[in-house]
Amino acid sequence: MADTEMQALKDKLFATRPNAGQALTDAQWDEATRYCHGYKAFLQAAKTEREAVTAALALATAQGYAEFVPGTVYKPGDKVYVNNRGKALIFAVIGTGSLSAGLRLAAAHIDSPRLDLKQNPLYEDADLALFKTHYYGGIKKYQWAAIPLALHGVVIRADGTRVDVRIGEEPGDPQFCVTDLLPHLADEQYKRPLAQAIKGEELNVLVGARAFRSDEGSDLVKLRILQGLFEKYGIVEADFLSAELELVPAFPVTDIGFDRALIGGYGQDDRVCAYPALTALLDVKGAVLDNAVNVFSSSAYQSLELPKTAPLHTCAVILADKEEIGSEGNTGLCAAYFSHFVQALCGAAGVSANECIAHTRCLSADVNAAFDPTWPSVMEKNNASYLNRGVVVTKYTGSRGKADTSDASAEFTAWVLKLFREADLLWQTGELGKVDEGGGGTVAKHLANLGMDVIDVGVPVLSMHAPFEVTAKTDIWMAHRAFSAFYATQ
Ligand code: MN
Ligand code: MN
Repeated sequence: MADTEMQALKDKLFATRPNAGQALTDAQWDEATRYCHGYKAFLQAAKTEREAVTAALALATAQGYAEFVPGTVYKPGDKVYVNNRGKALIFAVIGTGSLSAGLRLAAAHIDSPRLDLKQNPLYEDADLALFKTHYYGGIKKYQWAAIPLALHGVVIRADGTRVDVRIGEEPGDPQFCVTDLLPHLADEQYKRPLAQAIKGEELNVLVGARAFRSDEGSDLVKLRILQGLFEKYGIVEADFLSAELELVPAFPVTDIGFDRALIGGYGQDDRVCAYPALTALLDVKGAVLDNAVNVFSSSAYQSLELPKTAPLHTCAVILADKEEIGSEGNTGLCAAYFSHFVQALCGAAGVSANECIAHTRCLSADVNAAFDPTWPSVMEKNNASYLNRGVVVTKYTGSRGKADTSDASAEFTAWVLKLFREADLLWQTGELGKVDEGGGGTVAKHLANLGMDVIDVGVPVLSMHAPFEVTAKTDIWMAHRAFSAFYATQ
């Protein structure tokens, strides 16, 4: 066989894994860069789940989204949101078709690994004031020492009033840190396994050092810290008992690399998927459907006037909390709030919620681990995801023989890949590491448990769960385009 014939056969038969460097035009790189300006601003503004809710609501209400009112019969084109305790959100734009045809749903999470303050955090030792913390989510604890930290969160005072805290992000703000041992005295620490290089009870945060001026008495540094907190926030020590204060890395979001192709910042898992999914929903223009009336099954819609710019399917985004600790709690996706929303929406429209859920197609919008050339041994090269090869489709997550995964069907996987091919996207598939190397999960299985089709689609990340995570701009833009294509499907 001649070389050209061989090449033609390869082109016909081999799967390809193009890189954005070759596959995208200069104009597309420019568009990806432009798109990521907004992403970087969102990431900087939203370092906690509560801040992500505030930022997402600001974007959505500017596009006409209004709070969902159960019992209301919504008409095509209406835009609603559900705010679950200021920590999780559902957004939806009502489609022209019947809800019985299911939703086009994307589900991302807006919580990230961090250090939470304990309930009794403040203490003084050796003339220094410190906070005790309990880490949240999967962190490599040693990464959190000797870096600048900012304090974010809320305190609910004894009288029920609320204080919002965000210290360490503005120029001139003080910051905080966990201290580490100097190498000169670290001989014993070096012998610890890496997971215990810094132990949980060693994640103590330095918050002050100036004692109250007095000739006698103890805890004079702590006293002066509390005096300052009382003057600024009106809080006393007991108010920490009813607070959610989170220490997050104080690094600003930044471009990485001479060519600025990458973005470095905290909390990209999973705001790097939350933002593309949300912006795709906010951009939904919808297909103009001449036959929209034909697909109606609900009499509740029959008398309503149709806008020309609503999608066929009702499109929705969930921005969930608590994914990093297993989706537990009333703001995590093991809770019923999404089901209740669908029940209310469908109930008012006279449609079966079960039928809606059964026909719903969901992209679980979460990150995957990008191949790291410095750490190749944990990855299987043919099935890893790579920076700049586009949005990652992850058929299954889990660990140990596919435990704890929903594993999307071949049929649904093919439907998604066909969609991405037809939208001319740069996309790849990914598996989180070698078999039995470890593993992880997403919200996919919790939504699959409701009975819908779900597959993970997201952005590859380097240094996932580190205080400073790295992503590629073209992948983020491709994720946005992927969700847009998904919302436009018939
Ligand atoms: Mn995640
Ligand atoms: Mn994670």
